[in-house]
Formats: sequence, structure tokens, C-alpha cells
Amino acid sequence: MRNPKTVLKDTFGYDSFRPGQEKIINLALSGKNALAIMPTGGGKSLCYQIPALVMDGVTLVISPLISLMKDQIDTLRQNGIAAAALNSTTPQSEVNPILRQAYEGKIKLLYITPERLAMDYFRYQLNFLNIKLVAVDEAHCISQWGHDFRPAYRQILAGIKSLKSKPNILALTATATPAVQNDIGDQLEIPSSNYVITSFARPNLAFTVENGVRDSNRYILRYIEQHPDQAGIVYTNTRKHVEEINEYLADHGINVAGYHGGMTSEKRSQVQDDFLFDRLQVIVATNAFGMGIDKSNVRFVIHANSAKNIEAYYQEAGRAGRDGDECEAIFLYHPGDMRQYRWFIDESDADKEYKKRQYKKLNIISAYAHTDQCLQQYIVRYFGQTCDPCGKCSNCKLRGKLIDVTADAQKIIQMIYELDGRFGKSVIVQAVTGSTMERMREIGANELAHFGSLKTSQKYASDLINYLIANEFLESVGNPYPILHVTNKGWDVLDDKRKVQRRELKQRAYSAKNSSRT
Ligand code: ADP
Ligand code: ZN
Repeated sequence: MRNPKTVLKDTFGYDSFRPGQEKIINLALSGKNALAIMPTGGGKSLCYQIPALVMDGVTLVISPLISLMKDQIDTLRQNGIAAAALNSTTPQSEVNPILRQAYEGKIKLLYITPERLAMDYFRYQLNFLNIKLVAVDEAHCISQWGHDFRPAYRQILAGIKSLKSKPNILALTATATPAVQNDIGDQLEIPSSNYVITSFARPNLAFTVENGVRDSNRYILRYIEQHPDQAGIVYTNTRKHVEEINEYLADHGINVAGYHGGMTSEKRSQVQDDFLFDRLQVIVATNAFGMGIDKSNVRFVIHANSAKNIEAYYQEAGRAGRDGDECEAIFLYHPGDMRQYRWFIDESDADKEYKKRQYKKLNIISAYAHTDQCLQQYIVRYFGQTCDPCGKCSNCKLRGKLIDVTADAQKIIQMIYELDGRFGKSVIVQAVTGSTMERMREIGANELAHFGSLKTSQKYASDLINYLIANEFLESVGNPYPILHVTNKGWDVLDDKRKVQRRELKQRAYSAKNSSRT
């Protein structure tokens, strides 16, 4: 058996392993089931490609996306490695020759979709091959707790178990909370002692949240103009927005192109290549762009609209700085995006439990936009790890003075209490600031002791409520019309057992300037 390190050097041209790689490769080679959790760009592919080259027989790679497979196989072939894919686009006449080559040892890595593994006849054919290892890529797709559940993933274990060669399993993912990790482990029979989790932190990535930018297009244009030599991606949530932002930037002389699922595949691969080879500075894209794209020198990722959840956000933001050099991830938060996603969830025909989980994920990404914790720390904690404050995110950089907002928080909590916990944020904001809206009289709010007790703008009240939610003094529960509840931590504030402190909002300086023009 060849030495993994030699293969790393001779075949891939790298001198040393990245964190976790060697351990994962050794587990895979020793015939054990293992789970590898590494951030995007961490180098997951090598973890099964090297075992595949070192061992006899064939390594089966289960991958959810045909486009992803294609990219991987192209790269492998460039490195002189025999790999092939079988998916729904493979002509029937090519299936048998590919399987024959694998049988003859001429193909070391065979990429398939989970749907194909579920086919009886295909499994019968696979039994002629000496399959030693099955890599399950994007393994979080197996879990309903994850953000990208695919039913066919549920059948993978049964498929693998039916193989006569009794291969071991290597599951890989970039985004898994502890609950998802355990779900993957349970379903693929991986003992937790064989989880290899490398740090989720991305020390070269500086996170920024901009809360309240009115003119996103102008903000993005200005950023790009200030970084003229840097490649970047602007993510947005609809095809229409892609077209709009793309046009705006192009009109202002930016070397930019749009990318979304509604474009022809020729056009898409052309745009992708132009970006890859630095012929384009910026790509404006929906989340259709990026999976499996390996451009190392992306210097910034701007989210013009929010992602649906932290997992997706981190994966997209993580496409910056794969080369390890400094880079930025900027998130332009708009409450309207949350309302829109909530509406999408409402209208979908998913079951109640599933919807509930999606709402929860939405609340968490909205809390990300309102926390004053280190942003890197916030994300890493979400994935069940800890790290030091990064020192470079918008929250770390603008560590303003701590100000005591306990008195204001108490007024809000009192108001919620006096209204019997029956209302959501907008009513509480109106009541506590003493709005003259008719609704206040309808619900009798104007008669209550704390009506109008907070003598600030509604924006301040609303922002403080978001902060109280982000820090678990309040929670927003129920859908589609969430209601504010006071948590135990919140009751402690009312009882003067706990203080609420908040960083001065220097950070919002830019947004404030922008939003003053109404
Ligand atoms: P992901 O974990 O996102 O799947 P990839 O497997 O695509 O990451 O790897 C990201 C990049 O890092 C690729 O260009 C890959 O060739 C490179 N890479 C992987 N392992 C190493 C290593 N040990 N040393 C240097 N570069 C590596
Ligand atoms: Zn930080």
C-alpha cells in the first residue's frame, strides 16, 4: 500500500496535510466508519480521494449534485486520476463500459447519486466491484435537522449494507450542528469516537453585519469601487434581484456578471469560467452559484439579502479566502427578507415539525444580525464549538463602551407583561413608545401603566427588542404571527436580579447616515 503522504505530494503536489485530514484518512484506511466535519475549503475531498488511490478496489462517492460531481471529476482527471460519474445524465450505453473499467481497476473513484444507489439493478451490478470505501459527501443531507434534507439520503445505509464487499463509510460535511452530527452518526452507524471535527473558525475571514442599509446597491457599488482589484461574490435571493443588481453594477462600470438557475447551462459555465480565470471581477448570484466551485482568491462575499439560515450563510460566506489570505464577509440585514422567508415557509406544504425548525433557523440568523457578540464566535457556537473573539469582525472592531439599558429593557418587559404576553413585536413597540395608532385603543393598551413609558423612537425600541431576543431575555414564538415571551432570564431583569448591558451602537454609524434620507 502506498503511503498517503507520498500520494499527497506526488499526485496532488501538496507538502503537508491540513488539520484533520491525516486522522480521517487513517480511519478510512483502517476500515472504520468515520465522520469528517470541516469548514468549506478545509479540504474534505482529499480525505477520500487519497484512500481511494492508496487502496485496491473502488471507492464509491455519493454526492447530491450532478454539477458538483462533474467539477470534481474534471479536477481529478487533470491530476491524472481515473474517475467517473454515473448519474441521470449518463447515457445508458455508457453505464456498462464505466462499470467494466471500474471492475478492471481502471477507475478508482466512482461518483453516484443517492437515487442511483437505491436502484436494485444497479446494486446488483455494483456487487461485481470490489468496493472498499463509500464516501458520503454533504452528509448533512441525511438529517431532517439539517438545512438541506434529501429523502434519498435516508436509504444510503441500506444500500451500502447490501454490498457484498462490506465497505466502510466516510461521511463528510461542512455544516453540522451537534444535533445533525449525531443524526448522521446514528443513521450511518458511526461511533462518536470516530467523529473528526476540525475548527469551524475561519481566522482569515472578517465578518460584518450592516443593519439598516437602505440603498444596498449603492453600498455594494461603493464597496467594490473601494476594492477595485479584488474578486468577490454578491449573493441575493431571487433571479430578479440578480438581474437588477447586476445591471446596476454594470451600468456603473463594474466588470460583473449575473448567475442563476434560470440561465442556460452554457451561459452559466461561461460566467463561472470567466470568474475562475479572473476575467470577471464580481459575480452576482443566487445560491445556485458556488457549490463545488474552487476559486481560491475570492476576497469578499456580500449578502445583499439574508440567507435562510446560518448553515447556508456560513457556507456561502466561506467561499471567500480559501487561499488563507485576509478576506471579508458582509451581511446586509433587512427585516423584510425574514418576512419573505417566513411567508415561503408558511406557504410550503412541508409538515408542521419541519416548518417549526425552519422558523427557528430564521430566528437564529436574525439574531446573528442583532448580536453584539463577536460574529465569528456566534457562528462557531452555533456549531457547538468555542473560539476566542476574532478581533476583526464588525462587533469586535467597534467595541464601544458598555452601556446599561436595564431600565429600558424593564419597560419593554413590563409592557409585554401588562399586555398578557398576547402580542408580537410591532404592537409592543407601539405600546411602549406610546403610539397614537387606533389599534392601541382597540386593545386597551393606552390605559396601561407602561404605555408610552419608553420615550425613544420606535426604531430604538424595535432594535432593543431584537437585541433582547438575540440575548435570550425574550423569545419570539409562534407563526406566522410570532408573539413575544419573556424568558426566565428576562424575568430576572424585571426583578432587578440581572442587568442588561449593551455595546454603544457606533457600528451602525454608516447605516444611520444612509437611512437619514427618507
Ligand atoms: P472542501 O472541504 O470545501 O470540499 P476541497 O476539498 O474542495 O474543500 O479543498 C479546498 C482546496 O484546498 C482545494 O483547492 C484543495 O486542492 C486544497 N487542499 C486540500 N488539501 C490540501 C492540503 N493538504 N494542502 C494544500 N491544499 C489543500
Ligand atoms: Zn469578532
